[in-house]
Amino acid sequence: MNRLTASIFLALVLATCAMAQGQQYDLLLKGGHVVDMANGINGLRDVAIAHGKIAAIQKGIPASSARKVVDVTSLYVAPGFIDIHMHVGHGGASLDWFESAAGSPTPPLGLIADTALSSGVTTIVDAGSSGARTFLRQKLEVIDRSQVRVLAFLNIVAAGMNSGKEQEVAEMDPRLCADTVNNYREIIVGVKTAHYWTEKPWDADHPPWAAVDRAVECGRLANVPVMVDFWPRPPERSYADLLLKKLRPGDIHTHVFAQQFPVLDENGKVNEALYQARQRGVIFDVGHGQASFWFRNAVPAARQGFLPDSISTDLHTGNINGAVVNMITTMSKFLAMGAPLEEVIRRATVNPAAEIRRPELGTLTVGREADIAVFELLSGRFGYTDCGKAKMTGSVKLENRMTVRAGHIVYDSMGLSMVEWEKAPKRYFTVPRLASDPPAFAEE
Ligand SMILES: [Zn+2]
Repeated sequence: MNRLTASIFLALVLATCAMAQGQQYDLLLKGGHVVDMANGINGLRDVAIAHGKIAAIQKGIPASSARKVVDVTSLYVAPGFIDIHMHVGHGGASLDWFESAAGSPTPPLGLIADTALSSGVTTIVDAGSSGARTFLRQKLEVIDRSQVRVLAFLNIVAAGMNSGKEQEVAEMDPRLCADTVNNYREIIVGVKTAHYWTEKPWDADHPPWAAVDRAVECGRLANVPVMVDFWPRPPERSYADLLLKKLRPGDIHTHVFAQQFPVLDENGKVNEALYQARQRGVIFDVGHGQASFWFRNAVPAARQGFLPDSISTDLHTGNINGAVVNMITTMSKFLAMGAPLEEVIRRATVNPAAEIRRPELGTLTVGREADIAVFELLSGRFGYTDCGKAKMTGSVKLENRMTVRAGHIVYDSMGLSMVEWEKAPKRYFTVPRLASDPPAFAEE
């Protein structure tokens, strides 16, 4: 190495070091109020991201240390929300839908999974849309193609939800269910049962507890929790028996504030069975849905301090325009009912992560995948609706402003991360000649 090449080499090394020191982060969210319940953080912090992971979370991280800085002053920054009750599918159909041979005339129930991102949600759990025989297709066609992280509760009914087979006990095979859970443990986090024998008289082919018992048996075989959508029919199938005898610690009762449950006793107090169940470790989840959330149950329970363990939507094509709308609206309802912000965030982050046994999710711990919601807390007068076609007026509302998934900004409808168009670099103002020319983006 002669002196010239040595000095060039030295210069290169120094330049590389300077660059590495100068811009060690890919993205920096600066000036926000961080709420990260897993780490007990509720205050001003900057959040730095590198290689898709949380790289630093502290006060005063210099703007010069990141290739991209987003000013999130006056906004809240939390771990991306986890919605453990959603239904995902094609959310429509292929573009040849109008061809007569294209597909089913039945409107699809499942939403496009990535619609969840606009609400600050970075992990969803599909709640039993598919069963042992249909899961692989849902995985290949929907789950594997989503930007949002998609996990699943496997329906105990092998043909899945709305298959026309939810009343056939022979379709509920705990062994087949457990084998499928074991084959896809990276995605399947539990078992789901729903909609079983809610109307007709009992008969020999339809024992009252068949669906719950078989789902719990699958959960036992595969060592995963069970999520139960339930309709009490006492005396043979009572709510108290579900909570105190059938569900195991860690099993999840979704739709907790639905109309069919005796959430309150005759004196308007929260039913003692709910406290006893909670003591046993039974989990209460919102699962709002189109028919599972009534303020007459939720508001008195919240006032008496009985909040659900997790907030979830049960979103599907039938309730995106109401009564659910989205995850952050559902979270806002609890804030408007008087739950403190950090308790609302807890129930959309760490708690659901623990319920599905994925404690690495729902936190901004350094080293974890950078899934982040940036949202605003609004004050004013806001109407909130329930499934009984009644409303509650509240004075606070959360609105999601930006979502980061695995370090990438995947939702930014107000352009928090973007430059004002007049100040965009030259390339933004170029006129492409051909449709195949690179688009004139303000940013690479
Ligand atoms: Zn559901």
